[in-house]
Amino acid sequence: MPIVFPWEKRELEKIAAEMNIKLGFKPSQAFIDEDGACVVTLYKWIIQGFCPFFNRASRHCMIHEDKPLACKMYPLLVELPSGKLMASGKCDWIKQHGPKLMEHLSTRPELIPELFPNEFEAAKRVFIEFMTINSFIERHGLRPMDVSKLSECASVYDIDEYMARSE
Ligand code: SF4
Repeated sequence: MPIVFPWEKRELEKIAAEMNIKLGFKPSQAFIDEDGACVVTLYKWIIQGFCPFFNRASRHCMIHEDKPLACKMYPLLVELPSGKLMASGKCDWIKQHGPKLMEHLSTRPELIPELFPNEFEAAKRVFIEFMTINSFIERHGLRPMDVSKLSECASVYDIDEYMARSE
């Protein structure tokens, strides 16, 4: 279940609609402003079984160029908000290279950008986007809220739309 930014969710929905595919998302992080407007900053992409964009015959992603950053950076994982970078031990490629690789990466994390250059760039973008959103939220005094209460909000915005309104 990848975590995606709101603009990535909308892009995935657009692509899915063109391919006649249905996708499901749930807000994963939300904030509320002093006027009671609610703002979603992250969504959880609910995938049951195989991802609908995974071609099981060719074992390829059908939206390789357009896939969200969470997919682009895999097997790298970024711990937020610390920015700590990790490699997932669940990845087949990492498993094939055995525990020695994981050990090596944990003692020499500076090798990660060398081994996974594209994935590292995607992970960097995730961190930058997250920090940009975080600093906007702090500057504007938004408070964290329970995502299960979003249905009670008079208005709900995606963070990028809310940021555009506030500029
Ligand atoms: S990489 Fe492609 S197939 Fe895999 S989860 Fe992401 S969008 Fe789906």
